[in-house]
Amino acid sequence: MPLETQVKATIRKYKLATKKQKIIIALSGGKDSTVTAYLLHKFGYKIEGFHINLGLGEYSNKCEKAVRELCKQLNIKLHVYNFKKKHGNSMCYIRSAIQSKKTLKNCAICGVIKKWIINKGCRKVGADKIATGHHLDDEAQTFFMNILKGAPELNANTGPITRNVKDKKFIPRIKPLFYVLEKDIRDYAIREKLPVVFEKCPCALDSYRIQVRSFFETLSDREKRNIIRNFDKVKASIKVDEKIRYCELCGEPARNKICKRCELLRV
Ligand code: AMP
Ligand code: ZN
Repeated sequence: MPLETQVKATIRKYKLATKKQKIIIALSGGKDSTVTAYLLHKFGYKIEGFHINLGLGEYSNKCEKAVRELCKQLNIKLHVYNFKKKHGNSMCYIRSAIQSKKTLKNCAICGVIKKWIINKGCRKVGADKIATGHHLDDEAQTFFMNILKGAPELNANTGPITRNVKDKKFIPRIKPLFYVLEKDIRDYAIREKLPVVFEKCPCALDSYRIQVRSFFETLSDREKRNIIRNFDKVKASIKVDEKIRYCELCGEPARNKICKRCELLRV
């Protein structure tokens, strides 16, 4: 199935958004979120961009430049969150401080902090939905990683749209590329000549995902699709705690008394 048809089918089947809603795309500057924005715009959705400049030197400058170029081409509004300006230091610095107290991998820390910033930032600018560039390879890897970690129940929280969480502070997240293979996204971005940074993040050196990703390189497309198919079959039967609390420290949505971001920052 051509990529565009596949994405349209996912949006329709899972009712990801309506044309009246304001969808904010979390734009990293990479191919996945860029293609997500390009397609939603092409399909006539009301979109804006949200980018976090993580302050990782030349790499972050290139990412912000690519995002600005895309938003200019699509003629959409862009919100930029400058990590260094807000926190006084880059993500690298904050992460090293956390790692001096806790053994956690780079991407695990960055991922938690980015999610917190994206939810709060997009809510402040009136988003009905947040769209990210997660694709089939990402999701199949996550599914697998959760099983290897002995926490298959975490898989209940993934899918093309966040499940059943209704809360005024929590903006539902959608993943229009959920069923698309990464290599098809890369080909599409190149074919459409989109402004994209293909370089990997310089900090993504030691992540668990990288280990899993190299194993995934040995799998066929069919096997990757099968992982997602298995996941779709079992997902509905996993019970999830849908209750949302508010973090006692920052007031943002949390599953526990303290949100994951504040747990990291208070060490
Ligand atoms: P990652 O966790 O880096 O694989 O990114 C997953 C998704 O999060 C991307 O497809 C983007 O939608 C979003 N994202 C990642 N980094 C940023 C960033 N610096 N600014 C805004 N959104 C981001
Ligand atoms: Zn918090």
